[in-house]
Amino acid sequence: MSKIKHHLNDALLMSYAAGSLPEAFGLVVATHISMCDDCRARLGAFEAVGGAMLDDVATSQDVDLKATLALIEKGPKAPIRVDVTKLGLFPSALQDYVGGDLDAVKWRAVGMGVRQAILPTSKDASVRLLHIPAGCAVPDHGHRGTELTLVLQGAFKDEFDRFGPGDLEIATEEDVHTPVAEEGVDCICLAATDAPLKFRGLVQRIAQPFLRI
Ligand SMILES: [Zn+2]
Repeated sequence: MSKIKHHLNDALLMSYAAGSLPEAFGLVVATHISMCDDCRARLGAFEAVGGAMLDDVATSQDVDLKATLALIEKGPKAPIRVDVTKLGLFPSALQDYVGGDLDAVKWRAVGMGVRQAILPTSKDASVRLLHIPAGCAVPDHGHRGTELTLVLQGAFKDEFDRFGPGDLEIATEEDVHTPVAEEGVDCICLAATDAPLKFRGLVQRIAQPFLRI
């Protein structure tokens, strides 16, 4: 996919390479990387830096191999791996979370024609699939933290730009936006947040706890 315009920033790539992102963000980053040759190459550069640092550590200390292996066995589950061999709308990192491709998603209506499916991750951030019918809007909202939105199918426009398949929008606390799906194809996105969204409409604010958005 060469038409991707909106990419990961260095901070996200670096944190991903270091394994320090919340699981929800890691999934969005891994999914973008599996769709984007540019960011995969940039990640390789960051990982090389990390590898060089690890080499320094390893050569400057006496490494107790047995203890290290025991630590690895006990440690957190393996970082999300990118496997571009599984075909479908969802890259493999995402398929692992959904339990299959698009037809395995358990959608729930969130109003105004929009549906979502929250994916199971650690509690420090949340990630969901969003299905926005062609031509429909997601209620305008602000953010208390960071929101990453990756387009998997279709496209949406908001106050900032147009986002097509593979494009990633990074929204922060200052940004209020109203994403609107383009006509033609339903828009399917993967979105991660590390804090509840701030809706301006009263109805959305009342419904928010029930929808976990
Ligand atoms: Zn990219």
